[in-house]
Amino acid sequence: MNALANEKTVYNFCSGPAMLPAPVMAKAQTEFLDYQASGISVMEMSHRSSTIVEMFASAAQGLRDLLSISDDYEVLFLQGGASLQFSMIPMNLMRADGQADFLLTGAWSEKAYKEAALYGEARVIASDADNGYRSVPPVSQWQLNPKADYVHLTPNETIHGVEFTDWPDTGAVPVVADLSSSILSYPLDVSQYGLIYAGAQKNIGPAGLTIVIIRKDLIKVPERTVPKLLRYDLQAAQASMINTPSTFSVYLAGLVFDWLKGEGGVQVMAERNACKAQLLYDFLDASDFYDNPVAVENRSRMNVPFTMKDASLEQTFLREAKAQGLLNLEGHRSVGGMRASIYNAMPEAGVIALRDFMNAFAKRYG
Ligand SMILES: *Cc1c(COP(=O)(O)O)cnc(C)c1O
Repeated sequence: MNALANEKTVYNFCSGPAMLPAPVMAKAQTEFLDYQASGISVMEMSHRSSTIVEMFASAAQGLRDLLSISDDYEVLFLQGGASLQFSMIPMNLMRADGQADFLLTGAWSEKAYKEAALYGEARVIASDADNGYRSVPPVSQWQLNPKADYVHLTPNETIHGVEFTDWPDTGAVPVVADLSSSILSYPLDVSQYGLIYAGAQKNIGPAGLTIVIIRKDLIKVPERTVPKLLRYDLQAAQASMINTPSTFSVYLAGLVFDWLKGEGGVQVMAERNACKAQLLYDFLDASDFYDNPVAVENRSRMNVPFTMKDASLEQTFLREAKAQGLLNLEGHRSVGGMRASIYNAMPEAGVIALRDFMNAFAKRYG
C-alpha cells in the first residue's frame, strides 16, 4: 500500500514481483544510505563481512522460527529463481538412472516436469491438463511410484489459482514442493517435506533470491556432473556463499520475517488470508457478471483468477481499475482474464477496495 504524490492510496495486485509490507519498505528506506551506523549501504558491503554473514544467519533463523524448521533441515539462500530449481532438483536428487514423479496441476508444475525430463525419467502421476487446470486430480487417481527419487508437487499454482494442502503418505519417497507463491501464508509441517523451494518475489522479498529448505539426508554428492553453484552439498557447506549471493534481497527478506513475527506469525497470516480470499470468492459466487473457473475445494487463497461473462469489457475493467489505484489485475498472458494476487502484504482494505470497485463496475456495465 503506497501513497502516490497526490496522496491517493494504491493497491498492487501483481503476482510477482509483488507488493511488500509498507513498514518493511519504510524501514529499508531509513537504513538505505547508512546501515547500522556503518556509513554505507547494505548493498555496498562485502558478503564476507561479519555484518552480512550475521545478517544471513539471522534471516535464516527468522525463517526457521516462523516455520518451526528443525535442525534436520538446511536453509539455503540461492539465486536463479524458482525456475532454476526446476533443473537443480533433478540434477542433485535424481540418481544417474533415477526416476521422479510429478503431479500436474497448472503451468508451473508442467514446467518443473518438462525440465526434470531433461535429466532422467520424469513420470506424471496425475494431470488436470485436459480439464484446463481447474482442479486437483483426486488422490485415488495418483499413480505414485515407490521407487521414485522424489515426488514433485506445486501446492499453489500461481497462474491457474489452484491450491491443495493435503496428500497421501509417500512413504520413503521425499516430497519436493514448489511453494513460491504460498510459503509463509499458512503454517506448514516442514517434516512432511524433503525439499521446499520458493522464489522470494511473491511472499518473501525482492526478486533475485530463491529459498531452499532441504532435509539434510538429501544433501549428497550428486551422481552426475553438476556445476558447483548448482550443488546443494557445496552450497550448504559454504553457507550459500560459494560466490556473491543476493545480499540486498536477503536483507529485505530478513525484514519481512521480522515483520511477520511482529504481526503474530504464520497462523495469524493464515487467518487473515482466509478472510481476504473468502471476501473475493463470496462476491464472485454471488455475481452473474464475474466468474471463477476453479473447483471450490481447490481455490487458491493467494491468487484469485476471474473472468467476466463479457470478455470484451476486460480492457475497460483494467483501465478503470488502474485509475482507481487498483493495479496489475491482468491475468497471466498464457490464460488471459484477470487475477488478483493477495499475498501476506496485501491488507484487507485492498481486497475490500477491489470488491467494491468490481461491484460498481458490474452495476455500470451489467
Ligand atoms: C513465480 C513462480 C515460479 C517462477 O519463479 P521464478 O523465480 O521467476 O523462476 C515458479 N513456480 C511458482 C509456483 C511460481 O509462482
